[in-house]
Amino acid sequence: LADRLQNTIQRIKGKGKVTEQDVKEMTREVRLALLEADVNFKVVKDFVARVKERAIGQEVMESLTPGQQVIKVVKEELTALMGGEQSKIAVADRPPTIIMMVGLQGAGKTTTTGKLANLLRKKYNRNPMLVAADVYRPAAINQLETLGKQLSMPVFSLGTDRDPVDIANQAIEKAKADHNDYVIIDTAGRLHVDGDLMQELKQIKTDVAPDEIFLVVDAMTGQDAVNVAESFNEQLELTGVILTKLDGDTRGGAALSIKAVTEKPIKFAGMGEKLDELEVFHPERMASRILGMGDVLSLIEKAQDNIDEKRAKELEEKMRSASFTFDDFLEQMSQVRNMGPLEDLLGMLPGANKMKGLKNVQFDEKQISHVEAIIQSMTKKERQDPSVMNASRKKRIAKGSGRTVSEVNRLLKQFDEMKKMMKQMTNMQKGKKGKKGKG
Ligand code: GDP
Ligand code: MG
Repeated sequence: LADRLQNTIQRIKGKGKVTEQDVKEMTREVRLALLEADVNFKVVKDFVARVKERAIGQEVMESLTPGQQVIKVVKEELTALMGGEQSKIAVADRPPTIIMMVGLQGAGKTTTTGKLANLLRKKYNRNPMLVAADVYRPAAINQLETLGKQLSMPVFSLGTDRDPVDIANQAIEKAKADHNDYVIIDTAGRLHVDGDLMQELKQIKTDVAPDEIFLVVDAMTGQDAVNVAESFNEQLELTGVILTKLDGDTRGGAALSIKAVTEKPIKFAGMGEKLDELEVFHPERMASRILGMGDVLSLIEKAQDNIDEKRAKELEEKMRSASFTFDDFLEQMSQVRNMGPLEDLLGMLPGANKMKGLKNVQFDEKQISHVEAIIQSMTKKERQDPSVMNASRKKRIAKGSGRTVSEVNRLLKQFDEMKKMMKQMTNMQKGKKGKKGKG
């Protein structure tokens, strides 16, 4: 999805004048891209109609930057399709708040139960209890207990020979006594939607009256995910959806259609197998990501987790204004070490995936120290303004850092490309500010 759409967007972005023909061409590409990404046919049709109507309208044609306005329309509509404003998690008037996790086998319910508990504690300072209500597979109970141990959180279980409804009820009593403010119930799944399972889930629902019923869906299952979401929603009236495995090679089509078909918000996104790899789902960011503007906000948020807030703000500003020097780069490198793999971070920057130069570099520790050595061998002036660089300066730097001139050249080139990328990002930000609200 992303690649195809990005190509079209690259073409249309710079246009000073957009004709109806351009819009038609663009919407055709968007349509194909969405269908290719496995988005529901009817959803695509409505979407394209809305984009067309707005893009050919005055809002765009009379603006100074029609190319960018068209993109803005596509982005806004994509965002709306995925649920508009991000939604919050429920809080019961009287604790505990009860969350029921449902979904097919293998979707990621048990893992996500652990991740969600972790997120509730980390982000909202909550004190959750996990409940093992998948009584059909002993392994499922063990799995949850292991997660509970890793998190140092209580797991309520009565083994495999009890009724899941009983288990859920007793767990809630226990949570009240122990002052756990959230109870997350991990339920059983099946390979396919099936009547018995639905009956059991409905029974639990009736008995414990959950504040949230989250459907956990594997984003990799494409169109199938949409059907699954539809049936679960019909039977149980979901309150939200959690998409897992968005870190995989998924085309994102499921995210687009699920919201449209069920009208239930996607609340969280699973981005990996680890317990801290669950993120609040931001439709706006997902739309940006699809449109290739990069997930700048996620990047900054990630930075904030590890860098102090003030520095992150400064970094953000610098990146936006593209007044980024080698000194900043150097400081950032040391901070980046704490932030996880550099490639991940670069992947969030707009256009980074297209930069062959960056992609081919192995960002291991050794590389980072080489880069640091090179920058440290530069004079203050050279760090601030690399354009002064000439052959003799490069030679001196290479000598000083114990690296080769070609390594110095490579770093200069990468830095240059990075700055270009930031400039491009800044321009997009400007484009976005063109008009506020929805037309
Ligand atoms: P359940 O049957 O619905 O309880 O599914 P599990 O929680 O046991 O997960 C099934 C598999 O999916 C496990 O191997 C998980 O590690 C994996 N998984 C779950 N969520 C994610 C995710 O967001 N990303 C990736 N890559 N794997 C995930
Ligand atoms: Mg499970």
